[in-house]
Amino acid sequence: MANCSVSIIGVPTDSNSSFLRGPASAPEYIRRQLFSEMGNLATESGLEIGEDIDVKDLGDLPLLEQPADDEVIESAIVEALTSKNAPLCLGGDHSITFPILRGVSKAVGPVDILHFDAHPDLYDEYDGNRRSHACPFARIMEQGLARRLVQVGIRTLNVHQREQARKFGVEIIDMAEFTVDRIPALEGPLYVSFDLDALDPAFAPGVSHLEPGGLSVRDALRVLASQTAQVVAADVVELNPHRDINGMTATVAAKISKELIGMMAR
Ligand code: MN
Ligand code: MN
Repeated sequence: MANCSVSIIGVPTDSNSSFLRGPASAPEYIRRQLFSEMGNLATESGLEIGEDIDVKDLGDLPLLEQPADDEVIESAIVEALTSKNAPLCLGGDHSITFPILRGVSKAVGPVDILHFDAHPDLYDEYDGNRRSHACPFARIMEQGLARRLVQVGIRTLNVHQREQARKFGVEIIDMAEFTVDRIPALEGPLYVSFDLDALDPAFAPGVSHLEPGGLSVRDALRVLASQTAQVVAADVVELNPHRDINGMTATVAAKISKELIGMMAR
């Protein structure tokens, strides 16, 4: 019998993407793979979606334009959390993490964040846009929505973002020095933000910003398995279906989503 509920919420927007569009069509693309008859819904933790974990797919949010979209995202998150459903948000580009965290913070207070990405996404502004997908973690830290931000997979730190990281006290596990042992054990409530470009393009080619030298899928799963805190909400972002090859990235996004659901159900 199900002991916990997870809500899947599609967040179909790429209006804050700086280089290519495409992630707006990713939620449905990931969902199709997650519920495909190709595989079953058992997670590596032993819990099975549909058996031990009750998953409700709430469909895609009706997004139209900024800044109204941010309100729609924020209130959907507050609503899920206050009705005891842990939201798994399928992006969309990474700009969605800021309104999601505003909702999370409103419902449960500040969280620890485990952030997978090739990029720190700490720009103060990018191409004049403070809501760019290159900026969400600057906004999150400015508003005090995180107690602690740990970034994994980072391999594009420039001078400006290094300064921003220092200013906000962000803990960066550089990809060059990555081992699972270097990831601190975070405390709950924990939020996991998973930008698929954290993974090496060999595993996840369907992203807008390819950055070789990244994590393997197993590295990422080991990092997730190293955490024991209560995961209250999570996102999987930056899948660009136009760039995918043979559904590879959709399959990886579905796998990561499945394991995140398993973590949220603990
Ligand atoms: Mn990102
Ligand atoms: Mn990225």
